[in-house]
Amino acid sequence: MLKRDWGSVYDDRPTPQREVPEGESVDGKERWLARIAKHYRALLELLGEDPDSAALEGTPDRVARFWDEFINYDPGRIGTTFDSVNHDQMVVVKGIPFFSLCEHHLLPIEGVVHVGYLAADNVIGLSKIPRIVQKHAHRLQLQERLANDIVHELAQHVPDALGIGVYIEATHACMRMRGIRSEGTMVTSVMKGNFQQLDVKTEFLTMAGVG
Ligand SMILES: [Zn+2]
Repeated sequence: MLKRDWGSVYDDRPTPQREVPEGESVDGKERWLARIAKHYRALLELLGEDPDSAALEGTPDRVARFWDEFINYDPGRIGTTFDSVNHDQMVVVKGIPFFSLCEHHLLPIEGVVHVGYLAADNVIGLSKIPRIVQKHAHRLQLQERLANDIVHELAQHVPDALGIGVYIEATHACMRMRGIRSEGTMVTSVMKGNFQQLDVKTEFLTMAGVG
């Protein structure tokens, strides 16, 4: 199978190494959660709050479980590919909603992702594309890196694709809550292969409903 070179992008930060690897014992997971909760207790105290008050009782444990849910999210199976019936056919999955957390402020990023690619011999199951998006959204992120991560993972599964495009529209709580308090939506796009050609890019953005 022809394997195209998609270039290396945003490999500046390795995948996080967690202290509790997947499949770790329940005991190990509980200890990990307890350690996170302990840090949140200390944080609440530093913020002048009383973590033992009725209002905040249980908050450190709940926040610890949130992190478990966020970081250890299971996107399900991603790797199924099929032979393509029609060559040169553009596949677009649009409006995939996601939540992530920005790595600069640990505040929410909320938005939608549109993903398209031009299949050669292989296509990936349509339900797998939202899973790829969720997999990479469930870690501390930058919007630009998220777009690149999605392109890269998709390219692993359809390495002979003629082109891949990812377009993300998102709002960042760190922009809306602090600093300039801007209401703007941030738009990021990554176009690889023949998606860099104007006609192909335009077809993708039109199909995604943003062109
Ligand atoms: Zn931020």
